[in-house]
Amino acid sequence: MTEPNPIPHVLILGGTAEARQLAGLITAQLDDQVRLTTSLAGRTKAPVDVEGDVRIGGFGGVTGLIEYIKAERVNCLIDATHPFAAVISQHAHEAAEKTGLSRLMIERPRWPLPDGLDIRRVSDLAAAADNLAKSEASRVLITTGIQNLDVFSELSHIRLLVRQIENHEEPLPLDNAETVVQKPPFTVEGECTLMTENGIDTLVSKESGGTATEAKLIAAAKLGIRVIMVERPAPPPGDHVATPEEAVTWLQGCLGRST
Ligand code: NAP
Repeated sequence: MTEPNPIPHVLILGGTAEARQLAGLITAQLDDQVRLTTSLAGRTKAPVDVEGDVRIGGFGGVTGLIEYIKAERVNCLIDATHPFAAVISQHAHEAAEKTGLSRLMIERPRWPLPDGLDIRRVSDLAAAADNLAKSEASRVLITTGIQNLDVFSELSHIRLLVRQIENHEEPLPLDNAETVVQKPPFTVEGECTLMTENGIDTLVSKESGGTATEAKLIAAAKLGIRVIMVERPAPPPGDHVATPEEAVTWLQGCLGRST
């Protein structure tokens, strides 16, 4: 007698609002048809609640991810990680290629740029620091997260205000910076207040996209604040959609193929 197929296992690579929304949609629409797991890297101290099962921590590279996929009998993988989480997305691509697993990426749309925005695009944080060094910036709001901030350490003539989404015990690797702790979503009014009260003349942002953090660009355009925008890394090849709703449609096709 052949063993009946177990219920299909869907793995979401998460850490974003889209991943959380997708887990909610799958639970509401396909709850009895799938086993759902969301994987988080474990970067935030208090991750928000996610529907379905949650696992936390790295897999151990491509090899570890392949082992997980096989051991947990994953049928469909949806990479809903942040546009700048390039390493895990590449690992997901390679693991799917090697195992023949169906994989989808949710590629968050870029922000529409407000009229009149003074914007300079750069390839990475080091290029942003280089641009600042050559500019007349004196008070800069950094909204790129707390990783790799040491690239700004040579800018001793510029005051930096670094926004963090939660308090970190370790001090920043910068003598010329203060921090502000604020959680998205942000409003245009709130962003205008933050920038005006701190005398900000330049904003450094990653091209993350997403409605929760778009207000800073509208505020910068209103206030005539210059923006240095770090461009996204190119995503790996494969199926892409823009929204969690489209990902559910893709998943229905994936489940049809895997049962
Ligand atoms: P990354 O550089 O692409 O990945 C570094 C390592 O972290 C990966 O090799 C993997 O470890 C582990 N990892 C990353 N995402 C994971 C996940 N969802 N589940 C299990 N392990 C994961 O990632 P990152 O830029 O540090 O971002 C980490 C997480 O924060 C991502 O899940 C992302 O969605 C979220 N996030 C990132 C940003 C950003 O600006 N980068 C912003 C907001 C949220 P192993 O090799 O050991 O498997």
